[in-house]
Amino acid sequence: MRAKVNSKAFDYVIVGAGSAGCVLANRLTASGRHRVLLLEAGGHDRHMWIHIPLGFAKLFDNAKVNWLYKTEPEPELNNRQVIQPRGKVLGGSSSINGLLYIRGQHEDFDHWRQLGNTGWAFTDVLPYFRRSEDQERGADELHGVGGPLSVSNVCEPHPLCEAFIDAAEKSGIPRNDDFNGPRQEGAGYFQLTAKNGRRWSTAAGYLREARHRPNLTLQTDALATRVLFDGRRATGIEYAQGGATRTAYADGEVILAGGAFNSPQVLQLSGLGPAKILRDLGIEVIADMPGVGADLQDHLQVRMQLRCTEPITANDVINRWRHRYGAGLRYILQRKGLLSVGAGYAGAFLRTRPELATPDVQFHFLIFSTETAGAAVHPFSGFMASVCQLRPDSRGFVRIKSNDPSVPPAIQPRYLSSRTDCDTIVAGFKKLRAVMNEPVMRRYIAEERKPGPDCVSDADILAYARATGTTVYHPTSTCRMGSDPNAVVDERLRVRGFERLRIIDASIMPTVVSGNTNAATVMIGEKGADMVLEDTVANARIAASA
Ligand SMILES: Cc1cc2nc3c(=O)[nH]c(=O)nc-3n(C[C@H](O)[C@H](O)[C@H](O)COP(=O)(O)OP(=O)(O)OC[C@H]3O[C@@H](n4cnc5c(N)ncnc54)[C@H](O)[C@@H]3O)c2cc1C
Repeated sequence: MRAKVNSKAFDYVIVGAGSAGCVLANRLTASGRHRVLLLEAGGHDRHMWIHIPLGFAKLFDNAKVNWLYKTEPEPELNNRQVIQPRGKVLGGSSSINGLLYIRGQHEDFDHWRQLGNTGWAFTDVLPYFRRSEDQERGADELHGVGGPLSVSNVCEPHPLCEAFIDAAEKSGIPRNDDFNGPRQEGAGYFQLTAKNGRRWSTAAGYLREARHRPNLTLQTDALATRVLFDGRRATGIEYAQGGATRTAYADGEVILAGGAFNSPQVLQLSGLGPAKILRDLGIEVIADMPGVGADLQDHLQVRMQLRCTEPITANDVINRWRHRYGAGLRYILQRKGLLSVGAGYAGAFLRTRPELATPDVQFHFLIFSTETAGAAVHPFSGFMASVCQLRPDSRGFVRIKSNDPSVPPAIQPRYLSSRTDCDTIVAGFKKLRAVMNEPVMRRYIAEERKPGPDCVSDADILAYARATGTTVYHPTSTCRMGSDPNAVVDERLRVRGFERLRIIDASIMPTVVSGNTNAATVMIGEKGADMVLEDTVANARIAASA
């Protein structure tokens, strides 16, 4: 039996110190007027590989910083279970991600607005992207400087990336030096959330500054187990820490920022979710909300492995001790070279059909090759490129399997369960091959190792996608914002039908953005923080005039 410990009250209790949670902790404590409790299930971000960009590859199977989730058997992927890493550490997934800084398309946010979410059109969210950003290239109307999130260029060009960008251009994909500029379409180098060659997670950018403010209390190794309610008003959080069950009360608001898997899990454990599932697990239903955990979206990627004609890949550096030590030394002395590289070096956004208004697929180009994510690099010179569909129609779910908060929920993205998704991934893969077949790229390719020359027809490519496709780590939309019956939060991110309870993380995206999801989640944290503070002022005014 766990000891029960009651704690003092706060103005805001935030669950999860991830991409969005660290932004909230900083912005809500900045004025010094509000007492904030930040609860994080993981520990401090001291692990060396968190801070070295290439180290992301070392964190895929590290239970000290990663929840190590995996999906249920995926019916359209030959019943394979797909890994789903998530950060369990200060900074959350921004401490273990691939560092690529991509916001999505302007049209993504205009679409959110079209769905009825007032205040979320691109022109509405742009000030928050700019406010968060410290852009190495300087400020302009789309970019900001002086914000907490450092965004930097890759340290130097690489011959394989140059060939890839050239080949893309020759195959009809224009060169693009800024995927977050006026137009996303094109091929070029990625920018990274990094500063002087070090990862710039939200723990580094936002939490570090706020950590020593007297009005912020940070509790690590603290697993939120349920939201406490007085009727339909959230009053606090129950959490497990060091063998004890503790409670923390919020005079203002409870804010869930546990991410796309854990925010719906905590809501379901608290009695908000699909009634039958909760009842079957012995959980008292407070509100039958089928939308909690529904509409899971994720980007599926299909990778091509290539053997290189020249020893210029990262494999060649990693596999030769002299080169390896050279790279280590260079990083220590200059913060440059291989260790400063993120998950992708270069990439492209393109349309698989000319009639589309904006790109529907993304390529990631990597200068190393492995059999699976996080595995050792191949013993030969190799590189990889992948295709992912940007706006999947497939919808999955997150559902608790137990009323024990330490049991992972069932996660099922249902990849490739829509015809459009299958067609798009096949069309995108053919476009990727066309780039690889341009002579400027071809000269570096000794062999297309996987899928290889026998994979020719659309059916072959689709079969390869089903056999090998995996996540690009972008789950969203499990507590979707909207006004339809299945939407979980309204356009001010308040849980519909409840008071003083908000969700502010990647789970609220009405649809996944067309690109990598960290930048948009930071924006959501920035905008969400403003909403909390605005509503606090408004509520105080109402209370004073009553
Ligand atoms: C391996 C990997 C590579 C990626 N690569 C990129 C990339 O290159 N570029 C990009 O833009 N995006 C990338 N992403 C995606 C991006 O990092 C995420 O979309 C983003 O970080 C999500 O932010 P979040 O705040 O919603 O959740 P998270 O950042 O995951 O934060 C949730 C936090 O809440 C904590 N938590 C959860 N449940 C509880 C609980 N019950 N009690 C207390 N604390 C709890 C977690 O431990 C975690 O710290 C990647 C993700 C991964 C995992």
